[in-house]
Amino acid sequence: MHHDTAMMSTHDQPTNTVRPLPFADLQAQYRALKTRIDARIQRVLDHGQYIMGPEVKELEAALAAFTGARHCITVASGTEALLIALMALDLRPGDEIITTPFTFAATVEMIVLAGCKPVFVDVEPDTCNLDARLIEARITSRTKAIMPVSLYGQVADMAEFDAIAARHRLAVIEDGAQSFGAVYRGRRSCALSTFGATSFFPSKPLACYGDGGALFTDDDHLAQAAREIRVHGQSGRYRHTRVGVGGRLDTIQAAVLLAKLERFEWELERRAAIGARYQRLLGAIERVAVRPDRNSVWAQFTVMVDQRERVRASLDAVGIPTAVHYPVPLHRQPAYAGCDPAASLPVSERLAQRVLSLPMSADLGESDQDRVVTALIEAVARSA
Ligand SMILES: *Cc1c(COP(=O)(O)O)cnc(C)c1O
Repeated sequence: MHHDTAMMSTHDQPTNTVRPLPFADLQAQYRALKTRIDARIQRVLDHGQYIMGPEVKELEAALAAFTGARHCITVASGTEALLIALMALDLRPGDEIITTPFTFAATVEMIVLAGCKPVFVDVEPDTCNLDARLIEARITSRTKAIMPVSLYGQVADMAEFDAIAARHRLAVIEDGAQSFGAVYRGRRSCALSTFGATSFFPSKPLACYGDGGALFTDDDHLAQAAREIRVHGQSGRYRHTRVGVGGRLDTIQAAVLLAKLERFEWELERRAAIGARYQRLLGAIERVAVRPDRNSVWAQFTVMVDQRERVRASLDAVGIPTAVHYPVPLHRQPAYAGCDPAASLPVSERLAQRVLSLPMSADLGESDQDRVVTALIEAVARSA
């Protein structure tokens, strides 16, 4: 089954040690839920309402109840959720949105696509989330919103952002693409600000089998705007009252999500236990800190190491996949380098060189996790 003899002779490892681990085990989850997922998909094939079928409404009600938000608007992806939120805010070209450069490109990409200017503020070195203490120095008369990202599964300092926003009459959009299900001061991610946006991309904590996302808000008018923008700005059939997008979630993906929701609480508990176990076992290895008033759903379990490429190569050689979220902060990417030349972002730049995400999923077993930890501690010691 695992005949990588070159690898075995080089590293002199027994076969069971070089069996490659999956970075996130999506197949184990499907095996556990197969009957329910298959039945849910079959029902859509039988009724044939592939667009905006009954599962979409059912899912929106379930997700609103789960988060505590008044409205849930499902959409085609997490990227689309961010764009629709920005479009619903009636922004003008050149309006400024304060955000983090230490995120997936979509966050900043949608700000630019909406015609706005991203204003980059640095992150905290231990949580990797937007640093609330640095926000007010960058607010100008053109600032319209703050867009924090709840990175790796931990909600950012939403109460601080909401308080700053209230003082300056700004909107707050939480990019909760990695934090769906996370709890912050007793409340759920995505129900903490003007808008919360999430993603159901296959590797996210709650995921479908393709692209999907959702937008959450307590504001009736913004919810209505988002619903219209999702279907080409229609307030009624062929009545286009605003410019919109084709941004609906497929009924089949809603059906998959409804089946997966039945196991989601269990998965969140497993993720919490696996995350806590990583923290216990990792000893002196530096890792992302979690604040006491919130948890992480561990979309990624991320450590910080020097000599990252050497550590990664050592882990790869023993069949342990890792990932880097993210190797280049967005203000250093060609597409966004000119956006905000005034920004000073030393923490993001240093983190981008040191972060390393380890295998993580609700179905990661203890012996596999032990393998990851042992190999990481060895690799770090050897690369020092
Ligand atoms: C995944 C992700 C997105 C985009 O979500 P998609 O569903 O892939 O479009 C946006 N922001 C962050 C922080 C993400 O991790």
